[in-house]
Amino acid sequence: MKKVTAVAFAFIALAGCKNETSEQSQGGVQLADIKPLVNEVLTKEQRDALTPDEVLKLFKDGNQRFIKNDLTARDHSEQVRKSATGQFPKAVVLSCLDSRVPVEDVFDRGIGDTFVGRVAGNFVNEDLLGSMEFACKVAGAKLILVMGHEHCGAVMAAIDDVKLGNITAMLSKIRPAVEKTVYDGDRSSANEGFVHEVCENNVRNTIIQIRANSPILKEMEDNGEIKIVGAVYDMDTGIAELIEE
Ligand SMILES: [Zn+2]
Repeated sequence: MKKVTAVAFAFIALAGCKNETSEQSQGGVQLADIKPLVNEVLTKEQRDALTPDEVLKLFKDGNQRFIKNDLTARDHSEQVRKSATGQFPKAVVLSCLDSRVPVEDVFDRGIGDTFVGRVAGNFVNEDLLGSMEFACKVAGAKLILVMGHEHCGAVMAAIDDVKLGNITAMLSKIRPAVEKTVYDGDRSSANEGFVHEVCENNVRNTIIQIRANSPILKEMEDNGEIKIVGAVYDMDTGIAELIEE
């Protein structure tokens, strides 16, 4: 009942704001069509009322709005002020460093809604696992979403076995995905098909590492307290496609 209330509240709030602007028109644009700025931030009660599956659904819905160029209009200044003394994010996303993957936009999330960890090649190490444990066990997030992406330079560099400074050690975290990828054909970074397969396997590998190296997150997943999923972001369409493990 509480879950329904939280979601319903959001819609009622939106509908209420919309009615306030429905009377006039300017320049042929019906003000009723102008969406109100969302200025609320997620509360602990709203977040706690959500299940991991419901959080995943909200992310899928947000990605649909992103690909339709229908992002929610937000009053960031107001959200900054309202979230200053606390945060109750519903999820943690591990993404690549890539500038073409704007995580909050891809899922249409606002301030105080999502933890985001980023590293070239979206792998995990001790620091990122610690960050995820903080996000879920301490701060209450319900979903871990590991997201790779098409045309990933880190994945391509790992395929090419690039050696350069600290990049060498970083790419060694992605190399296992290259090696485990069974592929009949050109195994070079010039082959988009192979790069895609490695990208997916790298996401799968990260999820395996999360479960293997974080007993805390594994236990939370086994208890149904969190969900761990993988996705690949398509640069051409903006779609974050969930992948099977
Ligand atoms: Zn990348």
